[in-house]
Amino acid sequence: MTQQGWQFDNSYAQLPKAFFSKIEPNPVREPKLIIFNEKLADKLGLDQEALQGEEGVAVFAGNDTPEGGLPLAQAYAGHQFGNLTMLGDGRAMMIGEHITPDGKRFDIQLKGSGRTPYSRGGDGRASLGPMLREYIISEAMHGLGIPTTRSLAVVTTGEPVYRETELQGAILTRVASSHIRVGTFQYAAGKGDMDDLKKLAEYTIDRHYSYIKEEGSDRYLALLKEVMKRQAELIAKWQLVGFIHGVMNTDNMTLSGETIDYGPCAFMDTFDPATVFSSIDTQGRYAYRNQPAIGAWNLARFAETLLPLLHEEQEEAIKIAENEIGKFADYYYTHWLAGMRKKLGLFNEEKEDETLFEDLLNLMKEHEADYTNTFLALTFDEEYEGTENLLKSSAFEEWKKRWLERLGRQEQSKEDAHQLMKDNNPALIPRNHRVEEALEAAVEQGDYSVMERLLEVLSEPYAHTKQQEEYCNFPPDSTRAYQTYCGT
Ligand code: AMP
Ligand code: MG
Ligand code: MG
Repeated sequence: MTQQGWQFDNSYAQLPKAFFSKIEPNPVREPKLIIFNEKLADKLGLDQEALQGEEGVAVFAGNDTPEGGLPLAQAYAGHQFGNLTMLGDGRAMMIGEHITPDGKRFDIQLKGSGRTPYSRGGDGRASLGPMLREYIISEAMHGLGIPTTRSLAVVTTGEPVYRETELQGAILTRVASSHIRVGTFQYAAGKGDMDDLKKLAEYTIDRHYSYIKEEGSDRYLALLKEVMKRQAELIAKWQLVGFIHGVMNTDNMTLSGETIDYGPCAFMDTFDPATVFSSIDTQGRYAYRNQPAIGAWNLARFAETLLPLLHEEQEEAIKIAENEIGKFADYYYTHWLAGMRKKLGLFNEEKEDETLFEDLLNLMKEHEADYTNTFLALTFDEEYEGTENLLKSSAFEEWKKRWLERLGRQEQSKEDAHQLMKDNNPALIPRNHRVEEALEAAVEQGDYSVMERLLEVLSEPYAHTKQQEEYCNFPPDSTRAYQTYCGT
């Protein structure tokens, strides 16, 4: 173990050489620690003080590799907006796999750490705003109980990056269960080497699905099924909080089931299934309502890579894969329904629940109700910003009567239902104007206090504290025109 607490064991580098490139770190001029995640460091068994000192910061900047680390960039491919491309870590560097005191394995990766063999035309760098944005949103997702990569630190490099204008260079330290993506399998399948593909599949099973005990081709079918189940659950969780990923390319879908790549993502305010924030998503491919179907599409690409492992005969393999992929919608909908029941205080199941939920969503859409605040209004039986029109409509009153009757038909008390709703309806989400406000203070004025306060209230969204109340509000002018840009 190093002084900073790093305990590296680098398993990915045991995979065939084609899956990664060992690289030399690219030192930066003047690293400065901007934000550090003390709670996460603690959970990882790292030494908080040492990491915030000069030597620790040098690690976050890529200026020093701790003992046991093994800098590498991963190779992968990916369907970007439907087109298959060769990608790879173009601006990220894994420094090693850290083993926590309780034996868990995490990739420690620097994002914005300089050019790699996969950089193509890019400079390998990142700017401060988007790295802080990833820090805020990923930590908010964690607070919401949604599987995600985490953020350990952001440093500025003391070097400029050039986009449309000159910006401050920055590096984010990302912590992930792994960085294996659907795109990693696409890369392996594209190379056409069955042995390598099998090694990647075995590595993935060992790392994330070690409970799979089947043998032969059943083993890889089990892998497909388990990956699908985790993705179905993940995307249902996104839908339930109104999270729009924005760039669900196959290289941004993990095999671990964690949310990854916080580029153009954002949370929906006013409920509208067609919501898209990303400036480059002109067709709305990754709109809110499309996320489950895109999930299935990505998983079909994953299944395709596994075909040679599913059956010797391709036609049989395709049948097996199609049959499995066909179950995704069911897996997804089951999770979504269960989540919606909790949001509305329902402990048991009734057949009519689906209509009850659909009717509420339709009313929210019609009355341009705020998604998060509507559920708060129902939980606390109070008006919240963005719910006025909905609450005063007679159609909603009818709906509410049906819902109250439905609550009355279950054994559990009103108090129990209220508690269930509190536990499943966040007091706040990282609203776009709040995130922008925090980033502006940080990037323009070097004032990190706004971001720190935001992170504090986002860390426990189900606590429903007094301080969180002001964060329920949305800006005077609707954020519907809000646009996000791929992380630059
Ligand atoms: P993303 O859309 O964030 O998933 O990124 C797609 C690909 O572009 C990944 O392979 C990135 O590593 C690469 N990339 C993004 N920005 C840069 C950059 N500034 N320099 C080099 N590669 C980049
Ligand atoms: Mg990506
Ligand atoms: Mg990105």
